[in-house]
Amino acid sequence: MDLEKFLELMSEAGFFYPSFEIYRSKAEVGGFYDYGPLGVELKRNIIEKWRRIFVYPYQDFIVEIETPIIMPRIVFEASGHLEHFTDAIVECTRCGRKYRADHLIEEELGRRGISVKTEGLSFEELDELIRKYGIKCPACGGELGNVRAFNLLFQTTIGPYSENVGYLRPETAQGMFVSFPKVFNLVGRRLPLGIAQIGKVGRNEISPRQGLIRLREFAQMEIEFFFDPEDAKCPYLDELDVKLRIIPERDVAAGAKEPREFGPREAVEVGVVPNEWMAFFMGLATIYMNELGIPLDHQYFLAKLPQERAHYSSASFDQMVYSERFGWVEVSGHAYRTDYDLSRHMKYSGYDLTVERRLSTPKEVTEIRVYPNPQRIRDAFGNEASKVMQAVGKADPSWLASELGSKGVVTVNGYSITRDMVFIKEERRKVFVERFVPHDVEPSFGVDRIVYVTLEHAYTEIDGKPLLRLPPDVAPIKVAVLPIIRKDNYVSIGKRLFREFSMAGVRAVYDDDGTIGSRYAKYDSLGVPFAITIDDKTPVDNTVTIRDRDTKAQVRVGVGDVVNIVVNAVSRKLTINELAKSMGLQLITRDRSNA
Ligand code: AMP
Repeated sequence: MDLEKFLELMSEAGFFYPSFEIYRSKAEVGGFYDYGPLGVELKRNIIEKWRRIFVYPYQDFIVEIETPIIMPRIVFEASGHLEHFTDAIVECTRCGRKYRADHLIEEELGRRGISVKTEGLSFEELDELIRKYGIKCPACGGELGNVRAFNLLFQTTIGPYSENVGYLRPETAQGMFVSFPKVFNLVGRRLPLGIAQIGKVGRNEISPRQGLIRLREFAQMEIEFFFDPEDAKCPYLDELDVKLRIIPERDVAAGAKEPREFGPREAVEVGVVPNEWMAFFMGLATIYMNELGIPLDHQYFLAKLPQERAHYSSASFDQMVYSERFGWVEVSGHAYRTDYDLSRHMKYSGYDLTVERRLSTPKEVTEIRVYPNPQRIRDAFGNEASKVMQAVGKADPSWLASELGSKGVVTVNGYSITRDMVFIKEERRKVFVERFVPHDVEPSFGVDRIVYVTLEHAYTEIDGKPLLRLPPDVAPIKVAVLPIIRKDNYVSIGKRLFREFSMAGVRAVYDDDGTIGSRYAKYDSLGVPFAITIDDKTPVDNTVTIRDRDTKAQVRVGVGDVVNIVVNAVSRKLTINELAKSMGLQLITRDRSNA
């Protein structure tokens, strides 16, 4: 593959290109990319396809929401991002340039033919590697300082008060955790519950230099899937007709590089994947990539070792896809976040995030109850008393009791509650239900990386001419309407067809400029799966040809049928040859000369 030519096409055709072009010489701002008209459409279609695979078929228990991209500080204190969401940074003591330490070491040693894996190494271990191999600043050759932590959160202030710190979310996930009780109520208090979100996130990456693969602002498609860990059955697991290619944790630890194949259920049964829902989403992820044109041998799941996993995860797999330009790239992360996030938010917010589970046999329990002392609350809060009592009633009683026990005072919804304002009681009773914090598995997809690997896999050249074999359902433009020459009656039929396609919701272009061969070549390079040609037979017998981008085969059909046929071919993911066969139409040419 000619990478130069591919990248040139991406920029020239308007798929994607670096942002802030006019300020490139004045502002150093890597890690930001624009999508042009075709890129926007492709990205939208790739996102919509994700919904078709992950959300729409499971709408009864997976719902999509949208939450803010700026969130207050406390959310990221609770989530652990303020403490843990860091990369290792190292600074040149001479020129002051800063580098991401693990990447610098891997690149430098790679150049010397030494292969090291730095993921999960401590700062001391990274320091040791820098000293051992005498790694210097690649720009000026200066000594490097000590490796330290750099937090990747973009910080801002909310409103005019500098103390009101907020952050741009580094994952959409926290929006789903924070709004879990609201959404849980909206869907009728049932588990399992998947909450999906698609949106922008920001990570202040130290030195992003890999195009769409490492951005500072990018889009994610995530599901936080909440379930009862004692009832973790996925009824759809056996419906998946797919094999998971996995390098399991123990193989990774032993240094294995080759994935092994498992059926989704088998992967759970042999203990490679910790639960059925995780295996289910890994199955869907494999199908998703496959339908985007990534063959199975260009994708696998890589288990993360404990020291490589994010702070919230008790088991993780990266879905890796092969890229000619970047090698193996992580396109999605699958993490078993257990009850980590909800428990942390419960602790930091004081809000009860547990749900109820029916017990098969009732049991005796001792419960802590906290009742407001109306007299004291009225004395302290006057007119606000009823609001305060409500707030106390909603707070988690065990948390209230423990905070009051240790500190004597606790803040609930902004009200300062002291020990004398409540009665704390221990009560024994028989219960038929118990409360628990749901567990969560998270499939998390990076949209931009998926856009990139889809484009790279679609790209090929035939006789030196670029061809973008995008799957028809994600291709930005579905059909090009091309009169063979610019003759009045050809033009009017063409323009009418173009409008009909547009009204049917099919993205089309009309083009009568240049030779038909050069137009075919142009739309092949833009990934347009079908071309309608209006030729000298059209005004005579009211027929046009549909040309298939990949096979160049053409079928002749009635003008009145063409919109339906194209809609069918796009939604049924059929080539024109397949469609023609199924409709008993005749292939009229196998013309490769103009391609
Ligand atoms: P993570 O939360 O790090 O597992 O990220 C989830 C997904 O987001 C990854 O699998 C990537 O596809 C994507 N991603 C993470 N970081 C970046 C980045 N800097 N630029 C683009 N995509 C990213």
